[in-house]
Amino acid sequence: MTMQERIATDPALDFYQFDLLLTAEERELRDRVREFMQREVKPIINAYWERAEFPFELIPKLAGLGICGGTIAGYGCPGLSSVATGLIAAEMARVDGSICTFFGVTSGLAMSSIYYCGSEEQKQRWLPPLARMEKIGAFALTEPDIGSDASHIQTTARREGDSYVLNGAKRWIGNASFADVVIVWARDEETRQVSGFLVEKGTPGFDATVIEGKIAKRALLNADIVLNECRIPVANKLAKANSFRDTAVVLANTRFGVAWEGVGHAEAAYEIALRYSQERQQFGKPIGSFQLIQEKLVKMLAEIVAMQLTTWRLSVLRDQGLMTDGQSSLAKMNNAAKARQIVALAREILGGNGILLENHIARHFADVEAVYTYEGSNEINTLVVGREITGLAAFA
Ligand SMILES: Cc1cc2nc3c(=O)[nH]c(=O)nc-3n(C[C@H](O)[C@H](O)[C@H](O)COP(=O)(O)OP(=O)(O)OC[C@H]3O[C@@H](n4cnc5c(N)ncnc54)[C@H](O)[C@@H]3O)c2cc1C
Repeated sequence: MTMQERIATDPALDFYQFDLLLTAEERELRDRVREFMQREVKPIINAYWERAEFPFELIPKLAGLGICGGTIAGYGCPGLSSVATGLIAAEMARVDGSICTFFGVTSGLAMSSIYYCGSEEQKQRWLPPLARMEKIGAFALTEPDIGSDASHIQTTARREGDSYVLNGAKRWIGNASFADVVIVWARDEETRQVSGFLVEKGTPGFDATVIEGKIAKRALLNADIVLNECRIPVANKLAKANSFRDTAVVLANTRFGVAWEGVGHAEAAYEIALRYSQERQQFGKPIGSFQLIQEKLVKMLAEIVAMQLTTWRLSVLRDQGLMTDGQSSLAKMNNAAKARQIVALAREILGGNGILLENHIARHFADVEAVYTYEGSNEINTLVVGREITGLAAFA
């Protein structure tokens, strides 16, 4: 695409020519994922969301994109830039939050845990089939009684000869009811430190029950897990996961993707609301001609421009090895909060039509609630930034 052609892209949707910050490869990937989401996901997702079912038929099609594993290089993974990996999350969220999180859990949380904390053998065994999406991963940290205070998880791992025996409970675990491998974070009874354990599908003592009645990310399957004398080989302990610090490395490196997720939800909401405001007539005019509607649209746009630029910069810093925990938390915190405001404004602009699934804004409105809370709630990410700028921790 020439410079002139790029400048000709719809200025109302790319107000600051964000497009020009991307490499040709990043733009190609973004366009490919966007086209895939429009073609394969958008036509079917409302029905799955309403029935609270996951569209398993999409897994082989997603695999065909060759994007699973994101920034991981080698082991059959695509070795993308952080910007490209973030754009995937944004493009997925732009159409559907459930698919975005399903993908983020296996490609981000599960694969990163193995990549950052696994031995060479563990990486060789698990990353190639996960990258091909022949196997799907899950990441089990949160517990019924331990959410934000994640370093104090209570699930235990007891060493018995050549095995570890896991006991405890996990909550909210995406993909866990069907995943081939679940990274279970548990406290080693010997060292008292948090470690990661690979629990393979069908292991006796592992039981996952899908959580029902969610109002957000309904097409994503989240599960309650019970671990009852769940015995796994010693070889399934993640070799380099020896304290919660190692878990935190994984989380800081996936959090930037959630910041991009916020961008995607916000862009979709703005685009839908802008188009609607140009078409919907009231008082004999398009509602977009009213000052109060324009103000809402401009507020949305101002936040989106800031979100895009912050998140792009964060990703460049990550690739340069300069990203701090606080920077990653700031982007996640702010983008999720702003996306929440933007989808609400879009919902308002669509009036009654905004609460109907068929107009594709109600799903974003509901799904952003989960983005606001997971991968560190708004409050916890605020406190991570607070700790970095003051040098004082306001939480344990
Ligand atoms: C759709 C969805 C998918 C998820 N997927 C996964 C997954 O795949 N794997 C996984 O391990 N977890 C997953 N989670 C769990 C998620 O990470 C937790 O919900 C999150 O960490 C918050 O924990 P909690 O819900 O227990 O809230 P709590 O920790 O109980 O917090 C309740 C409220 O108190 C606030 N709060 C807590 N501590 C403080 C403090 N010190 N100061 C100020 N405010 C505070 C919180 O911000 C929040 O507003 C998922 C959650 C959802 C909703």
